[in-house]
Amino acid sequence: MYDVIIVGSGPAGLTASIYTSRAGLKTLVVAGTTWGGQLMLTREVENFPGFENGILGPDLMTAMRKQAERCGAELLFEHATSADLKSKPFKITAGEVYEAKTVIIATGASAKWLGLESETRLRGRGVSVCATCDAPFFRNRKVVVVGGGDTAMEEALFLANIVSEVKVIHRRDKLRACKWLQEKAFTNPKIGFVWNSTVTEVLGKDRVEGVKLRNVESGEESVLSCDAVFLAIGYTPNTGIFRDHIKMDSTGYIVVHDDTRTNIEGVFVAGDVADYRYRQAIAAAGSGCKAALDAEKYLIGT
Ligand code: FAD
Ligand code: NAP
Repeated sequence: MYDVIIVGSGPAGLTASIYTSRAGLKTLVVAGTTWGGQLMLTREVENFPGFENGILGPDLMTAMRKQAERCGAELLFEHATSADLKSKPFKITAGEVYEAKTVIIATGASAKWLGLESETRLRGRGVSVCATCDAPFFRNRKVVVVGGGDTAMEEALFLANIVSEVKVIHRRDKLRACKWLQEKAFTNPKIGFVWNSTVTEVLGKDRVEGVKLRNVESGEESVLSCDAVFLAIGYTPNTGIFRDHIKMDSTGYIVVHDDTRTNIEGVFVAGDVADYRYRQAIAAAGSGCKAALDAEKYLIGT
């Protein structure tokens, strides 16, 4: 029987485990078969405080993992395949069934990708899903943003402060984004739009040099030169196994009240799995800390 099972081993889950294990709570981190979370997919992380010259994403996550293990957290490199949160003790199945008095859900979210071979090859070499993270690498350069939702407009507006030109590529002729973001984007002189178009290939050998576009109405192909491609076509929160028990919004994000609490007492949440707004490693780590402290308080009270 564990005091706490943390599902997920990104910045949220590992930070939570550092706090719970240091508090003397018997902690199991169900780390998944691909541990470490989204930062394992990136190179330079320049905005995580404490690293004057930045740090590679995988190096940061390796340090967090070692710190968690040194503090006494037990890591299990299996994927959780089901969760029984109806009655206590809670049960998490990950190969075997594990029981706990509390659960912290920190399973993150997965950015959607276009699924192009060239996009995968140039990931971290100009292909990005995070303008806040990577825009400074493209100061005064030309970039494209793919997507027509709120995230795409926010990314375009953020980029426009830093780069010389932003072209938004959208597959329809109308944006999905809310009106005020649309207006801000339409009136920004650095932002232009390419309508009814999809990216069929990211061009470049070792770094992005452009994109190949296809007009979905005419079928016409064209090339647009640019130095980076920011994808903003949505995220999928990793919440499938909790669907039967935990309250979620219509897009699958976990609904949180009082910072880290879910609709089930004793089940807490941290990181991107409940946060479509900030999506930053430091924010995820901060919420992992909060969830751990809340779980600890809950255990003392029971
Ligand atoms: P995640 O990092 O998504 O971790 C969740 C973990 O849970 C994953 O390992 C996943 O495999 C695991 N998991 C999911 N389901 C299960 C299950 N059923 N059982 C077990 N494990 C499970 N942020 C920054 O602040 N700076 C940056 O420079 C930066 N760069 C980025 C670059 C890229 C390419 C991407 C994709 C994101 C970047 N971000 C950056 C955003 C940042 O990575 C996320 O905000 C942060 O990782 C969220 O942390 P998390 O712990 O909530 O979730
Ligand atoms: P989203 O609303 O799902 O928008 C995704 C966009 O990408 C859509 O325009 C979609 O086109 C396009 N798209 C999807 N798949 C594509 C593909 N394969 N190829 C090309 N284009 C593709 O996602 P989001 O913008 O990340 O927003 C998610 C949620 O978070 C929303 O509820 C949003 O309101 C919220 N959010 C709010 C704020 C804010 O309030 N400030 C900020 C960010 C996010 P179509 O339009 O044709 O479907």
